[in-house]
Amino acid sequence: MAHDEVTTHYRACNLCEATCGIEIEVRDGTIVSIRGDREDPFSRGHICPKAVALQDIHDDPDRLRHPMRRTRDGDWERIGWETAFDLTA
Ligand code: SF4
Repeated sequence: MAHDEVTTHYRACNLCEATCGIEIEVRDGTIVSIRGDREDPFSRGHICPKAVALQDIHDDPDRLRHPMRRTRDGDWERIGWETAFDLTA
């Protein structure tokens, strides 16, 4: 894929129960726009300002990107998804 190529991802906003359809454009691993998905049968292109802020959450250096487990000494360690699901179940 060329670096200047824009790819579009269709997802549901997970910030509240409305689960509005969103259209996310990404170039070279960076979000360049977030808009309402006009083809979403429920939200029909409407979103609130929080959906646009999803980019801030995505880019937040403190965002969890993989499962973590607290160790006995109070620190945190990265664990795999299978381990996380097993512990949760
Ligand atoms: S866009 Fe706004 S209203 Fe829609 S799901 Fe996200 S937070 Fe909720």
